[in-house]
Amino acid sequence: MKRIYLDYAATTPTHPEVVKAMLPYFTDAFGNPSSLYSYGQESKGAIEKARVEVAKLIGARDEEIVFTSGGTGADNFAIKGVAFANENKGNHLITSSIEHYAVIEASKFLGKKGFKVTYLPVDEYGLVDPGDVKKAITNKTILISVMHANNEMGTIEPIAEIGKIASEEGIPFHVDAVQTVGHIPVDVNGLEVNLLSMSGHKLYGPKGVGALYIRKGTKLVPFMHGGDQERSRRAGTENVPGIVGFGKAAEIAQQEVDKEAEHLSYLRDKFIKGILRQIDHAHLNGHPSRRLPNNVNVSVDFVEGESMLLNLDLEGICTSTGSACSSSSLEPSHVLLAMGFSHEKAHGSLRLTLGKWTTDQEIERVLEVLPKIVANLRSMSPLLKSNI
Ligand SMILES: *Cc1c(COP(=O)(O)O)cnc(C)c1O
Repeated sequence: MKRIYLDYAATTPTHPEVVKAMLPYFTDAFGNPSSLYSYGQESKGAIEKARVEVAKLIGARDEEIVFTSGGTGADNFAIKGVAFANENKGNHLITSSIEHYAVIEASKFLGKKGFKVTYLPVDEYGLVDPGDVKKAITNKTILISVMHANNEMGTIEPIAEIGKIASEEGIPFHVDAVQTVGHIPVDVNGLEVNLLSMSGHKLYGPKGVGALYIRKGTKLVPFMHGGDQERSRRAGTENVPGIVGFGKAAEIAQQEVDKEAEHLSYLRDKFIKGILRQIDHAHLNGHPSRRLPNNVNVSVDFVEGESMLLNLDLEGICTSTGSACSSSSLEPSHVLLAMGFSHEKAHGSLRLTLGKWTTDQEIERVLEVLPKIVANLRSMSPLLKSNI
């Protein structure tokens, strides 16, 4: 059976060109970038070349990019790094209630260490209101962190507006842009951000590598203590093949981002229309237009998200759900709950995320299979009998 992969928000396949670029750094060019002989300096050069490409992708300067172990590493570095560097100024952080766990859990950790955290609400589309950010600011606020686009709903947040507020107040602004970099144009100056997280494996690069953009002059404590790699901000021998792969992915993204976003938006809209037309009592989740080009997230009443997921899996179709049993907890996704979903409605959510290699035929195949799965599940559903 041919597999249909519709979970690009969870991870992307590594681009063949990326793999090709990485390979020599496992074998011939294995030198330690800190070694002074030319062999080591070749590795160092490869890292610096990757840094240029990652910087270019987001309109940054090379020296403002610090490589990390991924999106989680970048988020933790930004939040803890800024909090601990500014303890003498204040102890208040502002973030949203729909952030990725990397931001939520890092903030909760700080909450236990004497910091105060405001978790801003969102509206029914998952949007943060910049007015709420402004209202939450106190003279003790030392960091604002709001994600660029939500990984579940695909809702794109008003980052430029929030950036303007943060910059007027002189408060460092961190943005988790793991879902947007390489997928829509991202410019750190237009958005007025101080810190921005990226991850290699969400943009056709390898797993286990990412980067934090740190605007010149932003104070934060080092994330790792040790050698003087990454200008002493993140000690440890660099993941040379990973960084090279991430750099190559960034280079490809610069060339393809606009065209790809346009193509995926078209496929996405066709997909959403098809689902809503063919399945009764199905609803689009997230914002209809302020939305990632590759994100389809729907709720289907009277069926469980994970039942749809498992039945789609039997057909070779990979998807994701924000409903309870997909994770080890019994709670539905914090994002759906923050958007005001009842537990019942949250249980029927299904996320389908498209990517570079998604075809019209694949979408048509899902549009053929999914309505049958839903009809079948509904015919067995006690929820349906009592509700319709
Ligand atoms: C995937 C993801 C992360 C975590 O990135 P890793 O590289 O997997 O650690 C953080 N934030 C968002 C929004 C993500 O989608």
